[in-house]
Amino acid sequence: MRNKAFYEVVKSTKENFPLRYPVHVRRVLVPQDRSGDCWLNYPKREFVIRVDKKLPQLWAIDVFLHEYAHAMAWNTSKKHDDEWGVAYSQVYRNLLELWGIETKKKVAKLQ
Ligand SMILES: [Zn+2]
Repeated sequence: MRNKAFYEVVKSTKENFPLRYPVHVRRVLVPQDRSGDCWLNYPKREFVIRVDKKLPQLWAIDVFLHEYAHAMAWNTSKKHDDEWGVAYSQVYRNLLELWGIETKKKVAKLQ
């Protein structure tokens, strides 16, 4: 399956850090000035995270975690402040736990 590791990380992150609204993650072409983005579609009550489909999988995972942290800190911050940083560290640590001792092998395989 294409992007298998990416979607495993998405699933684990969503399970361990549930948000007030569902999060829809899309691997699509995004504007050239970014690698991904996140916004709250308020009428639909859902977060939308886009990650550039041209990115290598490992980079895409990092962008996803970055954007998911924005969703987690949505009410208090929209910039890269401490609230966002705490959320980012939480989802990053979840990634390390998900991959466990396999992290080095996993990263090598994705490069
Ligand atoms: Zn950001």
